[in-house]
Amino acid sequence: MALLSIQDLTVHYFTRKGAVRAVEDVSVELEQDQTLGLIGESGCGKSTMVSALMRFVTPPGRIVSGKIVFKDRDIVPISDEEMRKLRGKEIAMVFQAAQNALNPVLTIGKQIVEEILEHENVTKEEAWDRAKNQLELVGLDRNRIKSYPHEFSGGMKQRVMIAIATACDPELLILDEPVTGLDVIVQRQLLVLITDLRAKIRLPIIFITHDLSVITETCDNVAVMYAGKIIEEASTIELYQEPMHPYSQLLISSYPSIKGEKRTLKSIPGAPPDLVELPTGCSFHPRCPYAMDICRKEEPMLQIMDGHRVACHLIK
Ligand code: SF4
Repeated sequence: MALLSIQDLTVHYFTRKGAVRAVEDVSVELEQDQTLGLIGESGCGKSTMVSALMRFVTPPGRIVSGKIVFKDRDIVPISDEEMRKLRGKEIAMVFQAAQNALNPVLTIGKQIVEEILEHENVTKEEAWDRAKNQLELVGLDRNRIKSYPHEFSGGMKQRVMIAIATACDPELLILDEPVTGLDVIVQRQLLVLITDLRAKIRLPIIFITHDLSVITETCDNVAVMYAGKIIEEASTIELYQEPMHPYSQLLISSYPSIKGEKRTLKSIPGAPPDLVELPTGCSFHPRCPYAMDICRKEEPMLQIMDGHRVACHLIK
């Protein structure tokens, strides 16, 4: 049984201009012990998808249809109170630029302890002990427990956010662009930490990024999103080495090789489509170098070939 099964999920934002189709009919699964990368350009729907998973979508946004089955239970219809208990305890999330989410007037220890006391039936003393262990888990000195956020660098603050997110032993961790905005050395250190954490506490992770190179070592599978849909999904190695969808190919060639091979970086022509007025047929056709007549008329369906899912008319 999959830990998480997102089935035909559709999320729209209802604006004066019309419905913004942020996520459209998306299905994806995450097994126990698995790490899934979600990649795509800004506005492709990846953050909205995990917002829906955390039930953070608020008006004018709405989950229009679909199921989010977590541990065999659809969490779309459950009450806000039930969802509040689930968040942090069973599903935890580290947000984009999370270091800004730390409370500047509370010590980092207090912030970890608050999270533990919110969800766990433990004494304050036990919570403080666990908070110190959490700091060690993320590679920080346990004696810094009484330090304030401003005493830490950006990468260290991100470690604190991971310590808070994992403080209650969640069963699923969502990382939304966790290394964006950090320098490459700090990025690398955080990626090593995430890989270590995965091994130590066997934590399933959904890792959101616009840069495939940062998840090649952290994720088992990758789903590529474009215009609110998954257009390709495969094992990370397969997708990185043999991307089938033209968008995935361009996305990969627009970042430097993780192996350090010299190659010419290509930019993806054009811009992502307006999600209120999507192009007919394949949403990528205005930017695709291989677009054919059929691409402008018929939307390609996701096809599965040896576990590799791809939606493109070039694939027969
Ligand atoms: Fe390009 Fe057509 Fe494939 Fe879309 S369906 S990615 S336009 S070749």
